Amino acid sequence: MKEYILAIDQGTTSTRVILFDERQEIVYSAQKELMMIYPEPSYVEADANEIYLSLLYCIGQLFQNTDIKPEEIKAIGITNQRETTVMWNKKTGIPIHNAIIWQSRQTSKITERYKEMGVEPLVKEKTGLLLDPYFSATKIRWLYERYPQLLDDEDIIFGTIDTWLLWKLTGGEVHATDVTNASRTLLFNIHTLTWDQELCDLFKIPMRILPEILDNNAEFGRVKVDLFGLDCPILAMIGDQQAALFGESCLKKGDIKNTYGTGGFILVNTADELIISESGLLSTIAWRLDSKVTYALEGSIFVSGSLIQWLRDGLGIIKSAQDSKELALKVKDSGGIVIIPAFVGLGAPYWDDHCRGSILGITRGTKDAHIARAALEAMAFSVKNLIDVIEKETGLSAADLKVDGGASANDLLLEIQSSVLNKDVVKKKVKEATALGAARIAGLKAGLYKIEDLKDDEESIIHPSDSTMMIETYKRWKRALEVTRMFA
Ligand code: ADP
Repeated sequence: MKEYILAIDQGTTSTRVILFDERQEIVYSAQKELMMIYPEPSYVEADANEIYLSLLYCIGQLFQNTDIKPEEIKAIGITNQRETTVMWNKKTGIPIHNAIIWQSRQTSKITERYKEMGVEPLVKEKTGLLLDPYFSATKIRWLYERYPQLLDDEDIIFGTIDTWLLWKLTGGEVHATDVTNASRTLLFNIHTLTWDQELCDLFKIPMRILPEILDNNAEFGRVKVDLFGLDCPILAMIGDQQAALFGESCLKKGDIKNTYGTGGFILVNTADELIISESGLLSTIAWRLDSKVTYALEGSIFVSGSLIQWLRDGLGIIKSAQDSKELALKVKDSGGIVIIPAFVGLGAPYWDDHCRGSILGITRGTKDAHIARAALEAMAFSVKNLIDVIEKETGLSAADLKVDGGASANDLLLEIQSSVLNKDVVKKKVKEATALGAARIAGLKAGLYKIEDLKDDEESIIHPSDSTMMIETYKRWKRALEVTRMFA
């Protein structure tokens, strides 16, 4: 009998289910797009029930379109969009509100309030994070301010998406999370590795609503709902960026990856060293396996691949994201223009809520191709900017950058990236690093393979070329960034 691991990759814009075999190769994948809800311009929400239903749909596709038998699936690994907040009634299973997505800025005012209270240094010291609407605690506070009568309701519980899916899959039996997801809530003490009473009091969040925190490789529970006869344990849960770090085999101190998805997420493995950043990076848990913690430093870029979506949907200069390369290749450089993609403010290392984007240096000769090229440069330069900060802060300098995510399909982007970093850029054969990370942790726990058996085939290694010119363009981009911030 064959043995498979089922990875659930619950992302911002879609849910994916990917089946891996014993050699960690993909045998089947199904995907379902999700509807995003924008009740107000800066609000981003989604229907938590739809998220769960999209998972059922994908699992249904798997059994309908393959002859895989439920008993061949040894374990499930869940990886998920982090920080996104769901609160629901544990008796009825009904969410009190839509899921508030990580990107949503609806808690800006609440965040400002806490900043004015002067508690940011305390929060930073305890959590390794900053006060920003990005993280879950202000989202929970927002929900309680909207539904104050629920504060005393003992049946209301909270979860990030991992917890919500686990609770649903176990038929409401298990209310748990893992250390990586917990470490993004602003309620988790990164030193003691537990929920923090003082932080809960600060955000006026009753501790009883929080899930139990487990290792990333733990017996999270078994599937209890009727799902085509699926009856297997859930043996891994891990936030998406940490899963990608594991999936990219960034297992040693200093190993670094970037995921070019909707946003960009750079993580560097700092092994057993917890570094509290002085320059706007986030300290986070990479994973905890069999009680042993590995830490990471993270730089989050709010706009990465979504800049290409804007070229497509906003400007209409390309028909599909893939066309961005072809259009950019029509010109030899960006013709002196630079793009600062601060559509929703700036993430790391600035955490500037007020900044908005700009295109500088336009002349009568500026063409759509220059804009496409400048957009790809902006994506690469945002990464360079953060890697410089990471290297300065950690004193670590990786030999190469591992890359994944939708936009890593763009070779021109990776060439620009390699040149401006003056480092090799390494792309793996397996495209789904995030799902692979979760599957591997589950597969290791299930005993399907050992850590020494994890193998990585590289699809391509991109070497730097003409770094001097690219670094000059980058310096111009940095100046434009300062000017744009001043404008805001
Ligand atoms: P997420 O998981 O955040 O939803 P994905 O990893 O699926 O995102 O990546 C999708 C993003 O990548 C989109 O924003 C899209 O514009 C961008 N993208 C996809 N293909 C390309 C490409 N060939 N060149 C540039 N950007 C691309």
